[in-house]
Amino acid sequence: MKEKIVIIGGGPAGLFCAYQLLIRNYSVDLYDQMSGVGKKFLVAGNGGLNLTHSEELSKFSAKYGKDQEFFKELLQEFSPQQLRDWCQEIDVPTFVGTSGRVFPEKLNAAEILLNWTKKLSSFPAYKLFLKHRLENITEERELIFSNGLSIKPDKVIFALGGASWEKTGSDGFWAQLFSRLGVKLEPFLPMNCGFERDWSEPFKSKVNYHPLKNISIQFGEQKVRGEAMLTPFGIEGGAVYAISNQIRNTIMKKGKASIFLDLKPDLSLEEVIVKLKQQKSKDSLKNQLRKGLGLDSGSIMTIRELSAPEKLRDVEYLASQIKRLELELSAVRPLSEAISTSGGVSFSALDSHLQILDLPGYYIAGEMLDFEAPTGGYLLQGCFSSAWRIVQGIDAGS
Ligand SMILES: Cc1cc2nc3c(=O)[nH]c(=O)nc-3n(C[C@H](O)[C@H](O)[C@H](O)COP(=O)(O)OP(=O)(O)OC[C@H]3O[C@@H](n4cnc5c(N)ncnc54)[C@H](O)[C@@H]3O)c2cc1C
Repeated sequence: MKEKIVIIGGGPAGLFCAYQLLIRNYSVDLYDQMSGVGKKFLVAGNGGLNLTHSEELSKFSAKYGKDQEFFKELLQEFSPQQLRDWCQEIDVPTFVGTSGRVFPEKLNAAEILLNWTKKLSSFPAYKLFLKHRLENITEERELIFSNGLSIKPDKVIFALGGASWEKTGSDGFWAQLFSRLGVKLEPFLPMNCGFERDWSEPFKSKVNYHPLKNISIQFGEQKVRGEAMLTPFGIEGGAVYAISNQIRNTIMKKGKASIFLDLKPDLSLEEVIVKLKQQKSKDSLKNQLRKGLGLDSGSIMTIRELSAPEKLRDVEYLASQIKRLELELSAVRPLSEAISTSGGVSFSALDSHLQILDLPGYYIAGEMLDFEAPTGGYLLQGCFSSAWRIVQGIDAGS
């Protein structure tokens, strides 16, 4: 048996470190503040758990923006295919969806978590301490938990997550502890988040999480195909999340940002005009848009909300609104609601094995790291690959 490694945080990053250490003959004590592990992972599985993506490496690593070179290395060491192989190893087959995204066959996270935790519990060298909230780290490197327990391990992997969805345990409290120890942190910001729009009262009262399906959204040079969701406060959903960091940064700088919706991305402006002209002029606007262009109620409501009513009978104007509907956004939704958090422990505070330079033996895994990536499996893959890098480092004696 090799040395004991303490892991604090039982999300995917911490649990994957535990698994990889145990199969390499380390003993592992894992602490988490919640009554069960993997709470956010379970939430992530609610709409179909997107584990990773099958696209080629350079495209994949580009999703990590400023950190893409570092993540390229991490992904070469523990690739999306290796993640799929590992899922198979714990009896969870995966498949590649039509979009190239990778999902577990049963789509949810519960099966993976169950198989994973069962495997962990089968190692006599694994000890799990639930309801242990890390509350302090002293200058003498004592870790103090809420129940008064104090430990002083040589090697600790911190995998405490980001600062959103507090009810899953990822409350970002840890930032105070590391800041006190002088570790360089970047401020938390919402990522993969929704945005606010001051809709009119009638619109607000009608809109009830209406989807906008098969649209594209343009922001600056970026154009994303996908789905969005109209909410009483504004807009959210996959297509918005994919460019949420750029929208967020513009709002933070200028107090607002305009995105442009294309509600019929498969048709050119001319084709939209032709189709509108084919409609019976006595039909209501709603019927013309529904029958002529197949627009759903969410799209029709949004056109009405964002257009000059007196111009809507002008086919050219209407078509241009359908193809490029300006939606001005005024604020970012709160961090607590965001799917992920950017900010956290700065890479400049870490060595290549994600060990804190000034606190040797302390490693940082998963969403605690200051990286951002869109949804689509990039977040989880980032967590798994960072965990892999740490285990390799520990095993190599660094
Ligand atoms: C709605 C939703 C959908 C998502 N969908 C996807 C998706 O489809 N694909 C994808 O790639 N990603 C998705 N994500 C993101 C993904 O779930 C996270 O990036 C991932 O869970 C982060 O893993 P982690 O191990 O770093 O941290 P977490 O999963 O946040 O785990 C951190 C753990 O640390 C514990 N902890 C925190 N502070 C303390 C403390 N002081 N003491 C003790 N324990 C503590 C927490 O209780 C928690 O168990 C989604 C997230 C959400 C919210």
